[in-house]
Amino acid sequence: MRRMRLLESPIRISEHEDRDALVIRIHRLGLPEEVSNRLLEKTLELQEVLRVGDQPRAALLNGYRDREVKNVIKAETHGKCAYCESKIDHVYFGDIEHIKPKSLYPQLRLTYENLTYVCAVCNNHKRDYDSDTDPLVNPCEDEPGEHLIALGTLVLGNPHSQKGIATEQVLDLNRAELVNRRMDRIKSLHNLAQLYAQMDDGRRKEIVRSELEEESSDSKEYSFCVRAYLSNVLEELPDDADVRADAE
Ligand SMILES: [Zn+2]
Repeated sequence: MRRMRLLESPIRISEHEDRDALVIRIHRLGLPEEVSNRLLEKTLELQEVLRVGDQPRAALLNGYRDREVKNVIKAETHGKCAYCESKIDHVYFGDIEHIKPKSLYPQLRLTYENLTYVCAVCNNHKRDYDSDTDPLVNPCEDEPGEHLIALGTLVLGNPHSQKGIATEQVLDLNRAELVNRRMDRIKSLHNLAQLYAQMDDGRRKEIVRSELEEESSDSKEYSFCVRAYLSNVLEELPDDADVRADAE
């Protein structure tokens, strides 16, 4: 009975995605109109300069380093690297990434849809990689969970997805420091999950459950792996549907 009730009332894994979609997809927030117009103006100017074969001025080339643009793309990723999900804002300022490299697609240099926020390591791995030839997962357009698999501390390319395989390899998504940091994260969650399992129903247990749910939210570091972990363990834990019903 307990088990059945558990399956009928699965834990909420994130605020806005259904439970089967264990993916970290970046949702575009859009630029304020004034910023968008400014970027568009510069894009048109740049495209014209490129068309006539002139050398663009530095201010034009660096137009994507607009503070307000950066604020938006940083908010979209919750201050995490769009590729490896490391929190980067407390370490350094983070890089603005051109999803299609600016060296190969200069006309997209100032295009908002081509910009996201990444860590220096991923940026360095990707460099001038041409996503059109052998596409990588675009976290702003693709559903990463369709191409990548979170397995413990590893993020693997789905064998059925060339995009996923290429993404894992090019970005080196299982580099030692990433695997170690994911391991620390999962270990601390595992401790919390064990504590939760041992607790008697009640207000404190509800608080711990909320903490576990919170840890799976998009804003948290390595949430792709965290959700996969929690989806495995929470169903095995005692159900607290009654406690939740009382709290609501
Ligand atoms: Zn990264």
